[in-house]
Amino acid sequence: MKSQPLPRAANWIRSPTLDAHCLICGKPLGSEPHRVTACPNGVHERCRPWQRQPFTLESQLERLRTVARALASAHRDTVALGRRLRRLHDNWPPARPESAMRKVEKESARLRRVLDSLRDKLWV
Ligand SMILES: [Zn+2]
Repeated sequence: MKSQPLPRAANWIRSPTLDAHCLICGKPLGSEPHRVTACPNGVHERCRPWQRQPFTLESQLERLRTVARALASAHRDTVALGRRLRRLHDNWPPARPESAMRKVEKESARLRRVLDSLRDKLWV
């Protein structure tokens, strides 16, 4: 039996990405942003039929709503504590110092909890 010569390496070892083309426009995927949908081929991001794509960022939108509510709450608590401290400053010394200081400590602790909670929401 006569053996056949192997083809040149360049003919049969090729990167699949070199031949990959866009299933919409037919041009090479190249280095443009794309998604591989039928390996090695795919669709350029600019060619995707966006009008038929569902909105995929719902969870990110809901997360931003949660952060916005937490920021608004933290802002209200910060302003409230600032007003209390300003009144305390303007009426120093207060008639009942222990009670005034207890209220400040209580509101400070609340604000710390709100800010800790906010930090968790931002970085998780
Ligand atoms: Zn394309």
